[in-house]
Amino acid sequence: MCASTKERDHVVIVGAGVAGCHAARNLAVDHEVTVLDRSGIAAEATGLSAGIVAPTLFYSDAPAVARYANGFFREFDGSHGFSFTKRDRIDVMTESEAAEAQDLATRLSEEGFPVAYRDSSAITERYQQFNLEEFAGAVVYEDTGWVDPYTYTTALQSAARERGATFNLDVEVTDLVVDDGDVSGVETESETIDADAVVVAAGWRTSRLLPDGVEVQIRPYRTQVVVLEPGEPLSTEFPLGRVGTEHVYFRPEHNGDLLIGGGHYPIDDPASYTTDVDESFRLDIADFIPEFVDGFEKAGFVNGWAGIDTASPDTRPIIDAPRDAPDGLLVATGFNGLGIMTSPVVGPTVRERLTGDSPSFSTDLFAADRFEDVPESFEYVSTSDV
Ligand SMILES: Cc1cc2nc3c(=O)[nH]c(=O)nc-3n(C[C@H](O)[C@H](O)[C@H](O)COP(=O)(O)OP(=O)(O)OC[C@H]3O[C@@H](n4cnc5c(N)ncnc54)[C@H](O)[C@@H]3O)c2cc1C
Repeated sequence: MCASTKERDHVVIVGAGVAGCHAARNLAVDHEVTVLDRSGIAAEATGLSAGIVAPTLFYSDAPAVARYANGFFREFDGSHGFSFTKRDRIDVMTESEAAEAQDLATRLSEEGFPVAYRDSSAITERYQQFNLEEFAGAVVYEDTGWVDPYTYTTALQSAARERGATFNLDVEVTDLVVDDGDVSGVETESETIDADAVVVAAGWRTSRLLPDGVEVQIRPYRTQVVVLEPGEPLSTEFPLGRVGTEHVYFRPEHNGDLLIGGGHYPIDDPASYTTDVDESFRLDIADFIPEFVDGFEKAGFVNGWAGIDTASPDTRPIIDAPRDAPDGLLVATGFNGLGIMTSPVVGPTVRERLTGDSPSFSTDLFAADRFEDVPESFEYVSTSDV
């Protein structure tokens, strides 16, 4: 379901997270773009992110999307102060997961991605700190890495500004203005801003801004991170990874600490949560990591935090005009804990919906009408299970 492709000169984007900044960068080439944020750049989920980039894994069923996202991080590397840290990733598998993991690795390798399945002894020969007695092996990705999410987003902002976009921060959008079935602007606390199109990229608050009767199938959920300092700093070869059965993922920090993420659960009232990490998640990590990685027996707790992202029924974002939306209204939300790595598709997808310019990948995965038969209170699926 696309917004019509008539010319839309002024586009207002609500939200200066990674989604809004990417949309701004792409649209500013040939539109007047104004980005409004109630606080600042990367102020919510984006700034709290672990910044892991692994599109080949999470878009294994959509190789053109994975290729586009992988390519973007490499092309953008070095622009506007942004840098992409390349690092291999191991997705650790139990005996019962091994056969499916081998099939996945074979399929991705045949598609041309640098992916292979290795048994546990091959993994521990290469990465000696891991204790994989309980596991059969791992899928190794050699096209993964991470970004600092704040610097990445400010680099996107700077690229968008260079193309003429304006960013007005500390400005809350209180409502959309709709005339005769067309979006004609937004209301803020102090003024009405006219627009030919509006892109709402407001994270979990996106639903609140939609006109009555217009819905997107997203629900908020909480997700957490803990950083541990090992006895000795991790080497510069230490990989990223995930242990699906434990619902945790990890990546090294530049200083040799280890960031561990997980502890996801759906919530109904996001405004009532703090950014403090749950004690129960912290204790789970304190139990698991010293068993799994050598050198963490006396690890120090450095930091921990929690953020709120939005889940969709199939773990993929919704970048489209919702059903029954006024003409000229798009949303970009539902990033399911993968919004940094998926962000490169936001700009081209928004562009296609507004102008008809098609990118090198199909945007059908991000269409709003794919959920027609899904109930509003859908079951939350964690991307740890994908
Ligand atoms: C702890 C944690 C770890 C994560 N790790 C990873 C990872 O390793 N890799 C990965 O790819 N992804 C990760 N993610 C997910 C990723 O951070 C999100 O999917 C992504 O940042 C979502 O971006 P967004 O722009 O949609 O939303 P947000 O970053 O939440 O931005 C929405 C913006 O809209 C603004 N806004 C809201 N309402 C209004 C309004 N009414 N008026 C004006 N402005 C408004 C907010 O202030 C906010 O700045 C993680 C997330 C968390 C919380």
